[in-house]
Amino acid sequence: MWELERPYKKPKPEPIKRRCHRCHGSGRCNCQSCGGTGKVVTSRDVMKGPQWGRCTGCFGNKARRCPNCGGDGFLQ
Ligand SMILES: [Zn+2]
Ligand SMILES: [Zn+2]
Repeated sequence: MWELERPYKKPKPEPIKRRCHRCHGSGRCNCQSCGGTGKVVTSRDVMKGPQWGRCTGCFGNKARRCPNCGGDGFLQ
Protein backbone atom coordinates (compact mmCIF):
# COMPACT_ATOMS: atom_id res chain seq x y z
CA MET A 1 0.00 0.00 0.00
CA TRP A 2 1.30 3.31 -0.92
CA GLU A 3 0.08 6.80 -0.69
CA LEU A 4 -0.38 8.90 -3.68
CA GLU A 5 1.85 11.81 -3.55
CA ARG A 6 -0.26 14.76 -3.92
CA PRO A 7 1.65 17.98 -3.75
CA TYR A 8 -0.35 20.39 -1.79
CA LYS A 9 -1.26 23.23 -4.01
CA LYS A 10 -2.11 26.44 -2.41
CA PRO A 11 -4.89 28.13 -4.29
CA LYS A 12 -3.47 31.23 -5.77
CA PRO A 13 -5.36 34.29 -4.80
CA GLU A 14 -6.89 35.76 -7.86
CA PRO A 15 -5.75 39.27 -8.49
CA ILE A 16 -8.69 41.37 -7.65
CA LYS A 17 -9.49 43.48 -10.63
CA ARG A 18 -11.82 46.32 -10.20
CA ARG A 19 -13.52 47.83 -13.14
CA CYS A 20 -12.36 51.32 -13.77
CA HIS A 21 -15.03 53.72 -12.65
CA ARG A 22 -13.89 56.37 -15.06
CA CYS A 23 -14.18 54.47 -18.34
CA HIS A 24 -16.47 51.70 -17.01
CA GLY A 25 -14.14 49.01 -18.28
CA SER A 26 -13.82 50.26 -21.82
CA GLY A 27 -10.32 51.60 -21.31
CA ARG A 28 -11.18 54.66 -23.26
CA CYS A 29 -12.78 57.89 -22.30
CA ASN A 30 -13.89 60.98 -24.07
CA CYS A 31 -11.16 63.37 -25.00
CA GLN A 32 -11.40 66.33 -22.73
CA SER A 33 -9.56 68.63 -25.09
CA CYS A 34 -12.33 68.52 -27.66
CA GLY A 35 -15.15 67.20 -25.51
CA GLY A 36 -15.43 64.04 -27.56
CA THR A 37 -15.99 65.72 -30.89
CA GLY A 38 -12.53 65.17 -32.36
CA LYS A 39 -12.41 68.76 -33.49
CA VAL A 40 -11.26 71.95 -31.89
CA VAL A 41 -11.59 75.52 -32.92
CA THR A 42 -8.18 76.55 -34.14
CA SER A 43 -9.02 80.10 -35.06
CA ARG A 44 -11.97 82.36 -35.49
CA ASP A 45 -12.41 84.08 -38.78
CA VAL A 46 -14.65 87.12 -38.70
CA MET A 47 -16.04 86.30 -42.13
CA LYS A 48 -16.04 82.51 -42.17
CA GLY A 49 -16.67 81.89 -38.52
CA PRO A 50 -14.76 79.43 -36.36
CA GLN A 51 -12.17 77.31 -38.08
CA TRP A 52 -12.15 73.71 -37.01
CA GLY A 53 -9.09 71.59 -36.86
CA ARG A 54 -8.35 68.11 -35.76
CA CYS A 55 -7.92 67.79 -32.05
CA THR A 56 -4.32 67.32 -31.09
CA GLY A 57 -5.25 65.60 -27.87
CA CYS A 58 -6.97 62.60 -29.45
CA PHE A 59 -5.91 63.12 -33.10
CA GLY A 60 -9.52 63.14 -34.16
CA ASN A 61 -10.32 59.85 -32.48
CA LYS A 62 -12.72 61.57 -30.08
CA ALA A 63 -11.57 59.24 -27.36
CA ARG A 64 -8.30 58.67 -25.74
CA ARG A 65 -6.81 56.15 -23.44
CA CYS A 66 -8.28 56.35 -20.02
CA PRO A 67 -5.74 58.03 -17.77
CA ASN A 68 -7.18 56.34 -14.72
CA CYS A 69 -6.50 52.76 -15.72
CA GLY A 70 -4.03 53.36 -18.55
CA GLY A 71 -6.38 51.91 -21.15
CA ASP A 72 -6.77 48.58 -19.38
CA GLY A 73 -10.31 49.15 -18.28
CA PHE A 74 -9.56 47.52 -14.96
CA LEU A 75 -7.61 48.47 -11.94
CA GLN A 76 -5.61 45.93 -10.02
ZN1 LIG B 1 -10.33 53.56 -17.10
ZN1 LIG C 1 -9.82 65.41 -28.69
